[in-house]
Amino acid sequence: MGADWSILLPGLPLSSERGALGWCTVTLVRTGGRTILIDTGSYGDRALLLTRLEEENLSPAAVDAVLLTHFHFDHVLNFDLFENAVFRLSEREMNYVEDGGFRWAADPYVPFSIFDKIAPRIETFTENAEVEPGIRAVDLPGHTPGLCGYLLEKERVLVAGDGVKNAWEFIREEPPPAFGRRDEALESYRRAIALASIIIPGHDRPFRVPVGERVEYLQEFSIEVLSAGDPHASPRKITFP
Ligand SMILES: [Zn+2]
Repeated sequence: MGADWSILLPGLPLSSERGALGWCTVTLVRTGGRTILIDTGSYGDRALLLTRLEEENLSPAAVDAVLLTHFHFDHVLNFDLFENAVFRLSEREMNYVEDGGFRWAADPYVPFSIFDKIAPRIETFTENAEVEPGIRAVDLPGHTPGLCGYLLEKERVLVAGDGVKNAWEFIREEPPPAFGRRDEALESYRRAIALASIIIPGHDRPFRVPVGERVEYLQEFSIEVLSAGDPHASPRKITFP
């Protein structure tokens, strides 16, 4: 018996001079009778996330488990929607937050103010744990020290979080902007290639590995950004990517 997966919110490889837009991938997995989300998106994603769940005939209360790839705001801030879910996070990432390692690393994306609320609901795991039926945690440190991807073992689909942020960085062997270590991040890329046939990045569309001459995306997403910068003209539409 395998796992069904689908992208609830598409991650997009966008950033701006103003800072991180944080549009990350939110993945829905159904396996062994369990309904599982991988990452939750951020506040700005809430309305669309609820709509997408409704389209799947799911209420947030029906989500059994939320697997967090790492503890950055754009991946965790909607945790409170899922009142019945257990949250899973690697022990190393838990320590990175709890012990204040993120402060030493000058990592500005850890939403420490919610930690007290979510911490009692988190079950941590160590390396290579089978965290849900047919889903194994894969250490992908570098971006943060405790970052884990989740491998749908039978399908060889790796939900990589920001262990692989986007295909652009991946094919250039550019590590994701890191609060961990660059060499670890590159090693994580190699681990991802060895284990997966499909990578679902933290901020991009799913693509096949190994990558041949061109990146082969499995699904195309686009997003329209509206700019009302000129009050005397129609809002300008910019479509990404
Ligand atoms: Zn991140």
